[in-house]
Amino acid sequence: MITLALSKGRIFEETLPLLKAAGIEVLEDPETSRKLILPTNREDVRVVLVRASDVPTYVQYGGADLGVAGRDVLIEHGLAGMYQPLDLNIAKCRMSVAVRADFDYESAVKQGSRLRVATKYTQIARQHFADKGVHVDLIKLYGSMELAPLTGLADAIVDLVSTGSTLRANKLVEVERIMDISSRLVVNQASLKLKRAPLRALIDAFATAIPQ
Ligand code: ATP
Ligand code: MG
Repeated sequence: MITLALSKGRIFEETLPLLKAAGIEVLEDPETSRKLILPTNREDVRVVLVRASDVPTYVQYGGADLGVAGRDVLIEHGLAGMYQPLDLNIAKCRMSVAVRADFDYESAVKQGSRLRVATKYTQIARQHFADKGVHVDLIKLYGSMELAPLTGLADAIVDLVSTGSTLRANKLVEVERIMDISSRLVVNQASLKLKRAPLRALIDAFATAIPQ
């Protein structure tokens, strides 16, 4: 049995064409089914539905043989116990710094004042500001980061941006792009040894179907 960990929503939707290229069809729709283990047309392949940030945990410890996770999630979790053979070029967005439109970010950074930064992505934020030599107090949040600068909780946020419409709706501006984000295929290292042939076939089929 090969177990693939996916999260509901964009990653599931955007992985479907890749699965199709490998001859795999998921037999139930996660939006309507309550099942967490979804069968496929292949008796030896199943999909497990987990939170996006839990995908690396499942793959690292072998709860799943492979999975699809955002670069953001993989950097925050680390890659212990996993190979990362493919950038699937799906679920694309970017990690950025944003502030209130009336906050002078450039001056704050130049003056060397301590910046209060709210984010779910503390590893990425810590590394980014360390590289710039900017002192920061990181405030860990689990969602609705946009609210932090509006309430005075923080000067800036580090968050995912795709169209920028959520930032605009909350009168925030993107002042720095930290990195481009896409989702990657990750494979459990032991699985790749024990189930080498079928996993290799799957990875190769995915590779032929990567968009662009
Ligand atoms: P949850 O919604 O369960 O709290 P999540 O926000 O991490 O978790 P998703 O919104 O499905 O889950 O995002 C999964 C991945 O898709 C993210 O880790 C990121 O790599 C990418 N992503 C997030 N937001 C966007 C977006 N607006 N456009 C494109 N890709 C995105
Ligand atoms: Mg989300």
